[in-house]
Amino acid sequence: MRLVIVGAAGRMGRTLIKAVHDHPAFLLHGAVDRAEAAEIGQDAGMLAGVPSLGIAVTSDPLPLFATADGVLDFTVPEATLHFATLAAQARIAHIIGTTGLSDEDLRKIALAAHHAPIMRSGNMSLGVNLLAALVKRAAASLGDGWDIEIVEMHHNRKIDAPSGTALLLGEAAAAGRDVTLADVRDSGRDGITGPRKPGAIGFAALRGGTVIGDHQVIFAGHGERIELSHRAEDRSLFAQGALKAALWARGRKPGLYNMDDVLGLNTLSS
Ligand code: NAD
Repeated sequence: MRLVIVGAAGRMGRTLIKAVHDHPAFLLHGAVDRAEAAEIGQDAGMLAGVPSLGIAVTSDPLPLFATADGVLDFTVPEATLHFATLAAQARIAHIIGTTGLSDEDLRKIALAAHHAPIMRSGNMSLGVNLLAALVKRAAASLGDGWDIEIVEMHHNRKIDAPSGTALLLGEAAAAGRDVTLADVRDSGRDGITGPRKPGAIGFAALRGGTVIGDHQVIFAGHGERIELSHRAEDRSLFAQGALKAALWARGRKPGLYNMDDVLGLNTLSS
């Protein structure tokens, strides 16, 4: 499967180049980043710490998309919308890991998914997606008497909060309670906030150092607490999930898919 990696010079981009290089089912077809990026023109393999691949990082995705089977995209929302349009035109699978997408962005991505398969997930790891299924089940079983709080910590370069994974877990908790996250979400408490709103799903975001991604979902009841947590120890686990998604999405009919579809977790979460 010929894959184009966009955001190739980024933390995830470099991890993806290495993962594609190491996996016999994939061929790195192209590496794309912003025109202003210092890495334009550099060899993708050298960037990722593997032998030279003879593929220079470019800022022109068009000729690459026209001849590829799929795109791996861990960039920024504005870029992801652009790549969704291009992938839809080329009718190739678009695997989106970018977080911080607005509701309006998601609507545009859903439109692009009429023309090509799009798999989007705020977290591509098996562990986190299984955790989401467990959170949904716990929220459904425990009922409204238990307060749900989601705590996450990431490295000091992360630009969005709460993390895409925290929101994914919040969506799972909300689904378990049969409510919409937007109606109960409580992020960024500060000052005289008053007592906790009944039924709220709270978020707290910590930032520091090089933490790849820690998430904890706390169910706080009367005199007892349940804490479900996940720690990512290596970015390559997200890359492995993205590659699994690419193979799964190849040749699939147009539509918007998530990691539950790829991992077959839908039956577990109900
Ligand atoms: P990063 O800042 O290291 O990398 C982003 C890259 O995208 C940079 O190289 C940047 O130059 C490039 N980029 C920006 N605009 C571009 C454009 N118009 N065209 C081409 N390239 C462009 O960030 P990162 O840590 O690699 O994370 C990237 C995204 O992936 C974030 O949204 C992050 O939250 C998300 N992420 C998701 C998962 C997951 O499993 N879904 C895991 C880790 C990170």
